[in-house]
Amino acid sequence: MKVLKFGGTSVGSAARMKDVAKLICDGGQKIVVLSAMSGTTNNLVEISDYLYKTNTAGALEKINALEQKYVDVIEDLFSTPEFKTEATVIIKSMFEYLRSFSKSVFTLFEEKEILAQGELLSTTIFQLYLDETGVKSALIPALEFMRIDKNAEPDLNYIIDKLALQLSEHAGNTIYITQGFICRNFYGEVDNLQRGGSDYTASLIGAAVKAEEIQIWTDIDGMHNNDPRFVEGTKPVPVLHFEEAAELAYFGAKILHPTCILPAKLANIPVRLLNTMEPKAFGTLISTQSKKGKIEAVAAKDGITAIKIKSGRMLLAHGFLRKVFEIFESYQTPIDMVTTSEVGVSVSIDNAKRLDEIVNELKKFGTVTVDKDMVIICVVGDMPFENVGFQAKVVGALSEIPVRMISYGGSNYNISFLIKAEDKKRALNALSASLFN
Ligand code: ADP
Ligand code: ASP
Ligand code: MG
Repeated sequence: MKVLKFGGTSVGSAARMKDVAKLICDGGQKIVVLSAMSGTTNNLVEISDYLYKTNTAGALEKINALEQKYVDVIEDLFSTPEFKTEATVIIKSMFEYLRSFSKSVFTLFEEKEILAQGELLSTTIFQLYLDETGVKSALIPALEFMRIDKNAEPDLNYIIDKLALQLSEHAGNTIYITQGFICRNFYGEVDNLQRGGSDYTASLIGAAVKAEEIQIWTDIDGMHNNDPRFVEGTKPVPVLHFEEAAELAYFGAKILHPTCILPAKLANIPVRLLNTMEPKAFGTLISTQSKKGKIEAVAAKDGITAIKIKSGRMLLAHGFLRKVFEIFESYQTPIDMVTTSEVGVSVSIDNAKRLDEIVNELKKFGTVTVDKDMVIICVVGDMPFENVGFQAKVVGALSEIPVRMISYGGSNYNISFLIKAEDKKRALNALSASLFN
């Protein structure tokens, strides 16, 4: 069994959906995970925003415009009047459901129901299209097997059991279609795996069915060696170790959801990144293999805050770091980077919601300084400390950029820098120029 995930652009129009249908019809057993058509989830977020603000007219205007897009897609996708009518009836009722939210109170619970409609729409339409073209397939609802627990972590045992049940109920198919992104939470309510979470769905399914491979099909030919949105002339990296890919995804390479590598890594299932627009391109293979002695790629994570606690008196006393970390823990704020010295410790966080409370508490232990609007630049490759000169090369590339923190040695695969957001583009380009050109 293979798991193939197609992102928003890959199913973003009738023509793209037809391409996907061709790609999956090779006779092999597969579970196909679809995102919402590109733009839809953003539209649903916007609709929810109007509903939160009780601007019903604004919400209805957006819903109508989105519905028209789907009417057009159906017109282009289906060729027979019967299937056009069937698809139209289905999407009409889904959009009526969206409109019904304008009549009730609107909370986070309703918002999650609304956000789920994007993937429900794309999978329903796509599976109906396969029916029209005579390709046998089954639609298995993610809301029947994908679940997160009290801590918003995937409940893998539940997923394994319930997915097996779905597959056995639809036995005899080679193609199973399901929704990315959406799930139920501990209380059985509709929830999701966060924006970009369809990649995570695919790797969780891959782990649950012990797939032979997980394929992430998107709009670019694999993981590039730098962010193509900020650097020209980036190139695909053919082979990455799970750890390298996980670092890149966590530290901002948008092509992968931050946590999607972990389930694949634990189950040792290779992940292949492929381009729907160029299906013959090699893409990137993520597995236990890596290129030895090579710097592979650079990524950047935005929206970082740095916090420095200076305390000459206490820092090296045992228990000091624990006290500092406990404060972050008590405000449910994960730490990304840490650097220490004799007189102080600096940490970075990407969620500054509880910053004021955290700073207040930290002031009990020392002098606190905060730097906002920072970016983590993460350089990834085979970098065990015996590989002389790698960190020097990377630091050298950033010689013109003010660097707030450096972190090296946490793994064999990464060196990270904290810099100002305004220097991000310059830093990414400087790194590409000196590491890859
Ligand atoms: P999908 O909708 O298929 O999930 P995404 O938009 O989430 O696609 O991810 C693909 C995009 O990620 C690319 O179009 C590219 O702009 C962006 N991206 C950022 N960093 C990288 C990188 N290092 N390699 C490849 N793509 C990247
Ligand atoms: N549709 C969701 C989003 O736009 C999930 C995904 O595409 O991965 O975030
Ligand atoms: Mg994505």
